[in-house]
Amino acid sequence: MRVLVTGGAGFIGSSLVHYLVIEKGYEVLTVDKLTYAGNLQSLKLVDGRQNHRFLKADICDRRAMDEAFDTFRPDRVMHLAAESHVDRSVTGAQAFVQTNVIGTFTLLEAARTYYGKLYAEAQGRFRFLHVSTDEVYGSLGDEGLFTETTPYDPSSPYSASKAASDHLAKAWERTYKMPIVVSNCSNNYGPYHFPEKLIPLTILNAIAGKDLPVYGKGENVRDWLYVEDHARALDVIIERGRIGETYNVGGRNERRNIDVVRRICSVLDERSPSTKPREELIRFVTDRPGHDARYAIDATKLENELGWRALENFDTGIGKTVDWYLENSWWWEPLRDRYAGERLGVLPAASAKVG
Ligand code: NAD
Repeated sequence: MRVLVTGGAGFIGSSLVHYLVIEKGYEVLTVDKLTYAGNLQSLKLVDGRQNHRFLKADICDRRAMDEAFDTFRPDRVMHLAAESHVDRSVTGAQAFVQTNVIGTFTLLEAARTYYGKLYAEAQGRFRFLHVSTDEVYGSLGDEGLFTETTPYDPSSPYSASKAASDHLAKAWERTYKMPIVVSNCSNNYGPYHFPEKLIPLTILNAIAGKDLPVYGKGENVRDWLYVEDHARALDVIIERGRIGETYNVGGRNERRNIDVVRRICSVLDERSPSTKPREELIRFVTDRPGHDARYAIDATKLENELGWRALENFDTGIGKTVDWYLENSWWWEPLRDRYAGERLGVLPAASAKVG
């Protein structure tokens, strides 16, 4: 099995590459541009393995994508490369439209050309999995869950760009009869997570005794999934998912942001006691513009049809995650040059406007 993984040097991509190379023994080509969020150190575990290769390339570069397809000749494509941080999309959406929309379009076109050149048997084997987010569905109230038929209603430039790319992937399946499957997953957490996102930022600030910023009142709810559960789900979906279908991925682990931060504080207080309880470091800060209130995934289709189950619940997963950050400062310390923890995604105040 030969699998081309885009975005494999990122958070979820590196977990997926580890799983495919080490657990499954597949031949994997990781294609990644190595933006600020990409990190070859996240692929150290597969470094030197004969069944893993790395290609530094931009998915918007059609010639590089054609060459990757023609030389590697994948049976499967798992497309994760994206700009992924909502806050960054608020203050600068250009890269999000470029990579998430144009990049996905370019990759789909390169895949279509390659697919058209395959013999029938290889065409029958070929699959393209487009990896997306539950944020495309917009925001939920206190009740209800996102299903695969929930209408798209994205709120942020990030989720709008992912929604656009989902529509492209589905259109390429319907129009060009390409064997494409789409997955929409809830918020992930775990090792190798770039420390601009809530959970790793909180862990690292709490280790350092720094303030723990919480947006608004911390009441926004997210449905948390341990990243290795997501990696296994993606493998199951590309292996057995039905062409043209969408599969929602989630672990039924809804938590308010403030409860996530408090839980991290208590786990850290247990594992690595400090002079005062870390909860005292919590600071409520101005909310994110357009902050969705609640996300929650109904993963019944994936569970019943494909037999996938999340193995971690939030308490076991967060314990493993905190332990990983405590033991792997070699990975996160150098990232401080790329991001020092400053607030992102704040729009200028009305008083700062001209006129
Ligand atoms: P990430 O930001 O950690 O990693 C993205 C990777 O893509 C990086 O390695 C980066 O270098 C690479 N990349 C960016 N632009 C590229 C380009 N133009 N060409 C090639 N490579 C490029 O993101 P992540 O959190 O690992 O998310 C991976 C995918 O999963 C994304 O498509 C995201 O939308 C989706 N997703 C993420 C979550 C989550 O909670 N993190 C949840 C659901 C879905």
